Amino acid sequence: MSQLKHLLSAGDLDREAAIGILDIAEEMADVNNRDIKKLPTLRGKTVVNLFFEDSTRTRISFELAEKRLSADVINFSAKGSSVSKGESLKDTAQTLEAMGADAVVIRHHASGAANVLAHSGWIQGSIINAGDGTHEHPTQALLDAFTIRRRIHGSGSNGKDLSGLKVAIVGDVLHSRVARSNLLLLNTLGAEVHLVAPPTLFPADASKWQAELHFNLDAALNDVKPDAVMMLRVQAERMNASYFPSEREYSRIWGMNADRLALLKPDTLIMHPGPMNRGLEITAAAADSKNSTVLEQVANGVSVRMAVLYQLLSGERANIDA
Ligand code: ASP
Repeated sequence: MSQLKHLLSAGDLDREAAIGILDIAEEMADVNNRDIKKLPTLRGKTVVNLFFEDSTRTRISFELAEKRLSADVINFSAKGSSVSKGESLKDTAQTLEAMGADAVVIRHHASGAANVLAHSGWIQGSIINAGDGTHEHPTQALLDAFTIRRRIHGSGSNGKDLSGLKVAIVGDVLHSRVARSNLLLLNTLGAEVHLVAPPTLFPADASKWQAELHFNLDAALNDVKPDAVMMLRVQAERMNASYFPSEREYSRIWGMNADRLALLKPDTLIMHPGPMNRGLEITAAAADSKNSTVLEQVANGVSVRMAVLYQLLSGERANIDA
């Protein structure tokens, strides 16, 4: 596998690189099940979590992953820093460089921010995109793929891809970086992707995407019989217009609920990247059902992010059992 320096897009990974990360994540999951959940791999390396946008799962999960690999961790959030005094991304980045950051995990409200950081020359270290605007969230796609692979092929299914599996991604595709990264990675791993949304919540160029588009959820679930359904959060904070008549109507037509669960094959996975709007895109009956992988996705996020950091920063597979 060629050495990756940054992870900016799920499209940076070819099949071999993606499976390589999922396989390392299997080993990291074993480490996470041990009493002492720690590897010395990144001892002496400094990783900065640079968060310009709110986050719960992603930020905590990266921090835990970095600490389990023994990195020195700095958490920087825009609120409470000099960014709120108007400091630019460039000055912030150059400050981190002066402090010797080996890697920067960045979340930013602007699509493309991670690419700017990686190619600006302001920072020499690795850049990991932890969500940039409506653009991409590659580690989310990796943890989703890992969750699907483990549930369907079993843990320790090293080397396997997702060929032959059908995945439906449902809801606010327009504003979703999770949908964009998943679309790329699922295709790379051989899955068949179905996007299901009201016409107002599809991007203008969606017909060019490598996916089948559906405009009716019940019909799509009946026809496709997906192996996994990913429900997307309605991203109200990114909506500058009215995209559907009311929340009540959205939940009735586009929400995953007990009636829709009954349309699915008994073992279909119900996924959600979090945070969930319970009662809007997903009801408690679906979110808390035995088919739900929501909490597994969170747990798997730590293993997958350990694997990404390991892959970008250690370059070798020598120490994994240490
Ligand atoms: N947590 C995911 C993200 O940051 C999904 C979401 O916010 O809806 O994109």
